[in-house]
Amino acid sequence: MESSKNLQGDLESMRVFHRSGATKEISWRKSQLKGLLSFLEDNEVDIMKALKQDLGKHYIEAFRDEIGTLIKSLNLALKSLKTWMSPQKAKLPAIALLSTAELVSEPLGLVLIFSSWNFPIGLSLEPLIGALAAGNTVVLKPSELSPTCSSLLANTMPTYLDGKAVKVIQGGSDVGEQLLKHRWDKIFFTGSPRVAQIVMTAAAKFLTPVVLELGGKCPAVFDSLSSSWDREAAVKRILVGKFGTCAGQACITIDYVLVEKKFQPILVDLMMTITRQMFGDNPQESNCMARIVNKQNFLRLKNLLADPAVKSSIVYGGKIDEQNLFIEPTILVDPPFESELMTEEIFGPLLPIITLEKIEDSIEFIKLRPKPLAIYAFTKSKTLERRLISETSSGSVTFNDAIIQYAADAIPFGGVGESGMGRYHGKFSFDTFSHEKAVVRRSFFSDFWFRYPPWNDHKLQLFRVTYNYDYLGIVLVILGLKRARKSSHCSI
Ligand code: NAD
Repeated sequence: MESSKNLQGDLESMRVFHRSGATKEISWRKSQLKGLLSFLEDNEVDIMKALKQDLGKHYIEAFRDEIGTLIKSLNLALKSLKTWMSPQKAKLPAIALLSTAELVSEPLGLVLIFSSWNFPIGLSLEPLIGALAAGNTVVLKPSELSPTCSSLLANTMPTYLDGKAVKVIQGGSDVGEQLLKHRWDKIFFTGSPRVAQIVMTAAAKFLTPVVLELGGKCPAVFDSLSSSWDREAAVKRILVGKFGTCAGQACITIDYVLVEKKFQPILVDLMMTITRQMFGDNPQESNCMARIVNKQNFLRLKNLLADPAVKSSIVYGGKIDEQNLFIEPTILVDPPFESELMTEEIFGPLLPIITLEKIEDSIEFIKLRPKPLAIYAFTKSKTLERRLISETSSGSVTFNDAIIQYAADAIPFGGVGESGMGRYHGKFSFDTFSHEKAVVRRSFFSDFWFRYPPWNDHKLQLFRVTYNYDYLGIVLVILGLKRARKSSHCSI
């Protein structure tokens, strides 16, 4: 990375550019969004190759989870930007008779985005779209663990964007720490809770607001579905969301499955059959499984499996190849709750199935653990659905599918509690990178004289009604006007 003095100078230039007001123009914002669109369209094959190189992702996964969702988000932002930027009218109480109010979104200034390696293009550009749509200048720090993607972002993407407003800085934790020494108007962080604490501590020094997109253990509740069609569809959706999504290295992947005792053997059987159908007898030969990102993460996963009690719970898979950073899709039944597999975020292609007496016990099971980023439930029971929504807390709840919520623009994406804070996607991204300024305009045409001293009891009554009612309040004010004017009685 450049010297700290140069960086300071660059950041100051970005601030000066922001202060010039250029980034507030809708034409400038659209030109940046169109630049990002062109970057994705012109470099689609290079992006797919980079994702293959860094993570062994199939090009379909690359399009489904990164390029495709980003193009969708960019098209939405381009189509909606004018509406998003328009001031929103707001209602005022009767005390402010003949006034208008609105919310005006303004850019925050210079923002910093940290992204993680598992969706290195998607998780860099999705917040970048929001930051640019909202008219900010941006420094993006992608992860050092996906170096091919990071260098594509650092070397190619800027040629499509305004260099005075967007900078991509490559590097590891040392570079991240350097960046955190500077003042930012917002920090948007995707990554682990450990580093999130470092980010939040550094942000506190400047009172910088943060968005933390973290992870955790996302459960899937599997109810006893009676139709074989439903069962198969549910199992396919679980397996593609786990083994077929960056080999389970995703924050919203299913970490473990909860199932009722009587239905467990049916589920396990079906899972084994469909895993084989999807990835073949030798999944390492299939090109549909991503690789573990690096040796350190591989060893972490290997270590999870090394626990003898965990090892003996494997019913499918379990083969690992350290040299090629490959781990087979692995299904485990009832590993010990106290094992690291069941206490830490797995982030890999290991899928524990936990057997419960009754499916309703899943609610207590989830409630006793940290609030997850996502809860999934495969059920046709409206009662279970209602109970899960009302009795548990998580970033999102999805019924009868997995991962799909990531692609939805109309609902916010983000965690709660230990799974994170803040939200984005669609208009939520625009709002996350904007300040909604409250603007009030009063008229001189009318005024309530009881707003001013000297005070009396009637004036208190008039305040009460004008704060609590709209037009009725105004009528009462007019009726009370005479008495209030004349009285000078104060009872307290
Ligand atoms: P990480 O915390 O190690 O790294 C995230 C970013 O922070 C990277 O850019 C990294 O270079 C930087 N960084 C690392 N150490 C730093 C330091 N000391 N100071 C400043 N910056 C530093 O996370 P990761 O391994 O890239 O990602 C895995 C985690 O991210 C998992 O826990 C996963 O659940 C979570 N995640 C969450 C989401 C989400 O959208 N909620 C998405 C993907 C991953």
